[in-house]
Amino acid sequence: MCGIIGYTGKKKLAKENIITGLKNLEYRGYDSAGIALSENGEINLYKSSGKISNLENYIKDKNISSSTGIGHTRWATHGEPNQINAHPHKCGNVTIVHNGIIENYIDIRKKLENEKITLQSGTDTEVACAYINYIYEKEENNSDRKLKSIIKACSDFRGSYAFGIIFSDEPEVIYTTRKDSPLIIGVGKNENFIASDISAILDFTKEYILLEAGEFAKISCNSINVYDSNLKPISKNISTATWTASEYKKNGYDHFMLKEINEQPQVISNIFKKYLDNIELCSIEFEKYNKIHIVACGSAMHAGLVGKYLLENYANIPVTVEVASEYRYKNQLLSKDTLVIIISQSGETADTLAALRIAKEKGAKTLAIVNAVGSSIAREADETIYTYAGPEIAVATTKGYTTQVAVLSSICLNIMKNKNIISDDKKIYEELKNIKKILKNIIENSEVYKNVAKKIYKCDNLFYIGRGIDYALCMEGSLKLKEISYMHSEAYAAGELKHGTISLIENGTPVIAIATNKELYEKTVSNIKETKARGAFSILISPYTNNTSDFADISVELPDLSEFVNPISTVCVLQLIAYETAKLRGCDIDKPKNLAKSVTVE
Ligand code: GLU
Repeated sequence: MCGIIGYTGKKKLAKENIITGLKNLEYRGYDSAGIALSENGEINLYKSSGKISNLENYIKDKNISSSTGIGHTRWATHGEPNQINAHPHKCGNVTIVHNGIIENYIDIRKKLENEKITLQSGTDTEVACAYINYIYEKEENNSDRKLKSIIKACSDFRGSYAFGIIFSDEPEVIYTTRKDSPLIIGVGKNENFIASDISAILDFTKEYILLEAGEFAKISCNSINVYDSNLKPISKNISTATWTASEYKKNGYDHFMLKEINEQPQVISNIFKKYLDNIELCSIEFEKYNKIHIVACGSAMHAGLVGKYLLENYANIPVTVEVASEYRYKNQLLSKDTLVIIISQSGETADTLAALRIAKEKGAKTLAIVNAVGSSIAREADETIYTYAGPEIAVATTKGYTTQVAVLSSICLNIMKNKNIISDDKKIYEELKNIKKILKNIIENSEVYKNVAKKIYKCDNLFYIGRGIDYALCMEGSLKLKEISYMHSEAYAAGELKHGTISLIENGTPVIAIATNKELYEKTVSNIKETKARGAFSILISPYTNNTSDFADISVELPDLSEFVNPISTVCVLQLIAYETAKLRGCDIDKPKNLAKSVTVE
């Protein structure tokens, strides 16, 4: 949440480069945007509520030539998403952009108010800004004064932060530090950057330094100095980004979401090629563990539910799946025999990262399944399996989720092989070999999904039902629809609906039923008929669509695939139904309201 970028360079392109960077970071939040620029020795602030295009329009005609600045795109946590609360905030000599939450900001604000310091906004960030300035004013005037004030102030902050800071009396220098929110330093020629992630600066440089928690940096156009909290210099490695700027463009698609749906055949086929025969998977001996905890948030948690189903049913390992925000605050009952699998697309999800740290602290072996190379979760887990999905920009995940499922399928198949568990190997491996073509055919079937969308887009309520692995897929399908179309929908285990929720079925309420398991098919059909008898408009998604006209108003035919591949192909269908529905409802598909992609706050 919240995207930060800072630039300092001889080319005097701070305004232009920061706006470019902010656009690439917009997926992190779009409640407001702002920029602070050093102009003729002064720091000027330009802020607007809403998306970055508003800020861009606001400053485009201003004749600004600036060498240094910091910018921010906000996902509000404290204070309404209006212009006053937009970052940067400026108090006295200090101007700041912030990603995170200062949890003890009320106590600090009281302290400042007692000193007769008044604040303008409702944010925790302005409190942090005023506090750094307050300490700065009291600090002895020497060459380390600024770093010392930041270090002292941070030692009083509880919560999470990545800061970009400019002092008015040193307007060509950016200071930065972080704790539990990500931040990198981009290394250029006669210009340097700070950013929440590499996407913000790929148009300018591929070289970057990962700032660790508790490190403090002073950055000018031709120097980067990093220190610990005792002001001892730290020497840092420079890494090179593997993703390219063009991967962050729509490349002809109407939406990033559609582009990313269409990338799935390739990235999924890459995963099975890479991981299936244990090549490059990881060195964990999965058979050694008699219990697996999968911990994740949102769609990654839904991927975990597919993993649970596969690992329990095919590899005979007991698995629990929990949302990270709950898992971190309970007794996890970990032992040496527990493997904790942490799943996160961004590798920065705050609750998931905290859960990982707790599991490690308690001595459990941890494995991360992550997309963003070099992210905090990837670096801190004992082992990491990358999903190599490439950058995902649309807020609603598509390839991020399916690649996680493909990794879990690969893990399960490898365990089965090692345990000599017999399964229909030939069929499965044939499917995996053809996965690219299978997924392409499904994605190209767009007329079918458009037709479903036409039938459901005006409804207020909708249900997804399914049994077994299909229930896990219903959850993901339902979330996708909610996220981007703002329709209320619920996923239910097909047999469970009658225990209360069926009372919500009215004449015309759509019920999307997924029925991919032959053995459970008739049971699910009975459940569809129960809803139909109460007026539901039923949509069946299944490989078995012959003779369904008496209970299905629409049938969407799926290929008949094993459960190692079926979750991926079925979810592609659900993604496209959600996409076409959101399109008909005129929603902002890539940037749905109230959401942000990388959830770096609790
Ligand atoms: N807490 C800050 C605000 O509300 C930053 C939020 C964030 O990083 O998501 O403005």
